[in-house]
Amino acid sequence: MRLFDIDTKDGLELAAKVDAKYKPVFDKFSPDQRAAIALYFLPHKSQKDILGVTRPRVVKWYCPFANQIDFPSGHRYCINVYAGCSHKCKYCYAQGYEPDQARCKDNFKKKLLKDLAEIEEFNLSAAPVHLSNSTDPLQAIEQQQKLTLYTLKQLLRYRRYFTSVVILTKNPSTLLEPEYLTVIKDLAKLPEDHSRKSSFDNNSKPTLRIEASLAFSDQDNADFYDPDAPSIANRMKALKQLRQNDITVVLRIDPLLPRNPLPSGKLLSDFQLPDAQNLTAMKELVKFAAENGMLHIVYSVAKIIAPRYKPIPEAMQQLKGVYEYLTKPDKLIFRGGSWRLPQIVAHEQIVKPFLKICDSFSMKAYFCKQNLLLTP
Ligand code: SF4
Repeated sequence: MRLFDIDTKDGLELAAKVDAKYKPVFDKFSPDQRAAIALYFLPHKSQKDILGVTRPRVVKWYCPFANQIDFPSGHRYCINVYAGCSHKCKYCYAQGYEPDQARCKDNFKKKLLKDLAEIEEFNLSAAPVHLSNSTDPLQAIEQQQKLTLYTLKQLLRYRRYFTSVVILTKNPSTLLEPEYLTVIKDLAKLPEDHSRKSSFDNNSKPTLRIEASLAFSDQDNADFYDPDAPSIANRMKALKQLRQNDITVVLRIDPLLPRNPLPSGKLLSDFQLPDAQNLTAMKELVKFAAENGMLHIVYSVAKIIAPRYKPIPEAMQQLKGVYEYLTKPDKLIFRGGSWRLPQIVAHEQIVKPFLKICDSFSMKAYFCKQNLLLTP
């Protein structure tokens, strides 16, 4: 049964009205596919002259705010299974727009099924799907609600419409529970009739990856920065077991923070901050990734988010002081709701020594945006 009485011509008319910032993605598709992504992502009945990608309910455009020229994520989906996150990481970039407490979205299952049925109805080409970029899909609420497990099972039913399935989490141990392990193993196999199967097979690209965040090797430091996330020992044990089950893991040593000594003899303790990512700690984490055959490492330098409805956490206020110290006499960059170090300062002070360590263990390391674009 058809869900809609609309066709390629209607889709192309909609596509002609898409906001210029999405045009680079729309324009690269053949007319049929352009019509398909327009019908799925753009509102059908809007009277507006310019349309945003606002139509899907939960299987959404990856990063709907980004201009595709500056942030060329392309045609890829993101499902934020829950709203909010209970891990309460001090550096969380989602705190600018997400609630503090985790909660279920209204009618999530119904909305998910509608979106998936429409992807099938409009016959979109296969694209990557990411769970989740603004919340942890395996945080504590998952133990009662199982909405992530439900989502993974539905993605399996519609596997031919998705290329890579990416699960980003600080709680990988949940994936070792039999029901999760079975479904992720099944998702890692593309069906024979999948349009991209030969390309994935020929390039030995994984079709499912767990991106696990682990930025600290010492529990006291983790308690300081991500106090409500599972312990380091728990995460490491789970990741080892996932690798033993041949599940592809990417280690996110993310975010990166300044380390001692700061220039001109100051120390992080002068700003009431721990030296949480000294070179010994970084070596331990990179060695862990190398010894356990992880695909690669992902990093980015911490941004200091200005939350919309609450004050900046004290630790981030102190980190802002460090950033100002590292940047002086220049000013910090404020862009997209957050303060950042100038690129050259971030590279010299934070990234370069870290990349040297990755290199010494022959571990590839990608900046987070680069990692996204390399995920097929
Ligand atoms: S786990 Fe991710 S989404 Fe959750 S609070 Fe931490 S950084 Fe934010």
